[in-house]
Amino acid sequence: GRPSCECNTCYHGSDCSIPSLDCSADADSGNPLFLEPYWYRHAKGSAVVVAGWHRMGYDATGENFISVELEQHIRKLHRIVGNAVVDDRFIIFGAGSTQLLYALVHALSPHNSSSPASVVASIPYYPVYKMQVDLFNSKLAEWRGVTSSWVNESISSSSSSSSDGSMNNFIEFVTSPNNPDGLLKQSILGGSSVIYDYAYYWPHFTAIPAPSDHNVMIFSSSKLSGHASSRFGWALIKDEQVYKKAIYYMKLNTMGVSRDTQLRMLKIIKVILAEHGRKGDIFSFGYQTMRERWTKLNKVVSKSKRFSLQTIPSQYCNYFKTIRDPSPAYAWLKCERDEDQECDVVLKNAGIICREGSLFEADDRYVRLSLVKTQDDFDQLVQKMDALVSDHSSIS
Ligand code: PMP
Repeated sequence: GRPSCECNTCYHGSDCSIPSLDCSADADSGNPLFLEPYWYRHAKGSAVVVAGWHRMGYDATGENFISVELEQHIRKLHRIVGNAVVDDRFIIFGAGSTQLLYALVHALSPHNSSSPASVVASIPYYPVYKMQVDLFNSKLAEWRGVTSSWVNESISSSSSSSSDGSMNNFIEFVTSPNNPDGLLKQSILGGSSVIYDYAYYWPHFTAIPAPSDHNVMIFSSSKLSGHASSRFGWALIKDEQVYKKAIYYMKLNTMGVSRDTQLRMLKIIKVILAEHGRKGDIFSFGYQTMRERWTKLNKVVSKSKRFSLQTIPSQYCNYFKTIRDPSPAYAWLKCERDEDQECDVVLKNAGIICREGSLFEADDRYVRLSLVKTQDDFDQLVQKMDALVSDHSSIS
């Protein structure tokens, strides 16, 4: 059962059952609390107790501040899920994938080149990529905007590409499935270095068509187990030189990831593995929860032509061994009417807090609605959305 807790801001009363008036549905952040019920069920088995004397020093069991046992369990998890090739790969840990994103930009930048690497992503993209590159303002790497504008460059073989047309001084971010639109993506810039951000490449959110086999792949526990506050991510890296540069970065940046966090993540992943294949394991729970939310929201949105949602195909999933329905982490909602140029304002006026499209460098006709928060958050979103589409003035 659910342990006693504070009420969601939209409810009050001793059992949090009385709806508060004038409460907005908050679909803004990507807080992965949809997984809380899974961990309520495994509260005891997933608990970690650490004595005061435990692992006080700087060391971990493995080199470069990582726990050997945790590394082994992560490799096992990838083999079971089938989302990434782990053989002949180096692993580094980071404080969330956030820390690894820039560690890999740094590691992939040519350190002996006179010009900085060009870092790019495809619209709509997760804004932190650009924000980090701009913040660190390094001589090694520079934000150069939208990937597609460089594809044309490479075809016309401009000065930025080498004689064979490959973009060898580029670092391309590919988020798959993408935040915010949930679509599976591939690199589109031939010859560039690519950072695959696989934060959402788990059966909760997407079909797993095949194990990914790329040079640099970043994962995070935030959206896998829901433990965003532990700040734990990892990267699988093929090339030893890239690995060594990333390790050097991590060494000077934080001297590795908190050993306490590693201990907790080991326990969490042990539970996931032990439960795997049983009824209600984390992947079937995650998929069912997210699919149900997606279906419900679609039903409501399709009542009106004023709004539309992204189309995600049903697809064969190598993990579930069947064709499966979409179950994205976010809805990428479009306001279709000419007068609704600022979709976030339309939603805000209807009591829905969301993220505007321009944050992802997309049109403000789009907004992102988070579907990964608590069931209460989601229910309120559907309730407000239903009221909005049922409003007579919105039916066209
Ligand atoms: N990449 C993507 C695409 C994300 O959406 C997020 C978090 N929402 C992150 C990376 C960072 O997550 P974390 O640092 O918690 O691993």
